[in-house]
Amino acid sequence: MVKIAVIGSSSMDLVVSSDKRPIAGETVLGKSFNTVPGGKGANQAVAAARLGAQVDMIGCVGTDVYGKEILDNFCKNGVNTDNVEPVTDEATGTAHIILAEGDNSIIVVKGANDRITPEYIRRAEETIANADIVMIQQEIPEETVECAAELCEKHDVPLLLNPAPARVIKEKVIEKCAYITPNEHECEVLFGGADVSYMLKKYPNKLIITEGKKGARYFNGVEEVTVPGIRVHAVDTTGAGDTFNGAFAVAVSEEKGIHEALRFANIAAALSVTKFGAQGGMPTREEVEKGAD
Ligand code: ADP
Repeated sequence: MVKIAVIGSSSMDLVVSSDKRPIAGETVLGKSFNTVPGGKGANQAVAAARLGAQVDMIGCVGTDVYGKEILDNFCKNGVNTDNVEPVTDEATGTAHIILAEGDNSIIVVKGANDRITPEYIRRAEETIANADIVMIQQEIPEETVECAAELCEKHDVPLLLNPAPARVIKEKVIEKCAYITPNEHECEVLFGGADVSYMLKKYPNKLIITEGKKGARYFNGVEEVTVPGIRVHAVDTTGAGDTFNGAFAVAVSEEKGIHEALRFANIAAALSVTKFGAQGGMPTREEVEKGAD
């Protein structure tokens, strides 16, 4: 069983659906309301755990009811939460999502996720040092990502950075990462619109660009390779990238090799988009292996 440490956000998605989006000062009646556990860190942790990895979450929630639900959800999915500290003076991170008129509008309140500081993750240094791979995203402070890169270098643990949401990353952080996995939009922000083939060549076997249903692209040191996506009937692509990252981290830690690991990740992510919800569609190991036949 591979050991994965995930440093990242956990939040509760509060989803309202309505025929109409209210304008300023207006009140409308909604159709439904659901709460769904989310946050890129939590999603990737759950994705990896469903695929059979031993996962340690390093994150932060509030002592409110959402924090408790998030901890319960980790427990249900077999994710270890010894390094998820409930804090009393911040609310659990939330995403307030309105589904109306065929589109969504979202307000994200980072809340306790902003407490995932460099000092905070240093307290989990032993967990980081003992992991086969560490996975991190950008819904937490930038200094924390830098600190994680330093800790991983110190302990010689590979770091997978999923640079979502997009923000520019310092070269010294890029250098310390084993894998960086932007989608096409994030790639543009990351490299200021530089030529993609040039960037892939600059970071062989490190930069992996996900391209939705087309799959994923990287440079293997000799040539550019596309690992094609799997054709499915997609009903909800929320969390496709999170499933992809969780699955890639599991597979690459099992020493499958980057190409085979990307194939595994494409299958897992494709299965995830056939069901509703970010975590709702995340497949088990058996489902991915059946999908690979
Ligand atoms: P994100 O979800 O972060 O925006 P992408 O849209 O690039 O990232 O999707 C990540 C991965 O999920 C892709 O590389 C692919 O493996 C899979 N995927 C996404 N959309 C589809 C789809 N419609 N059909 C099959 N696989 C998909």
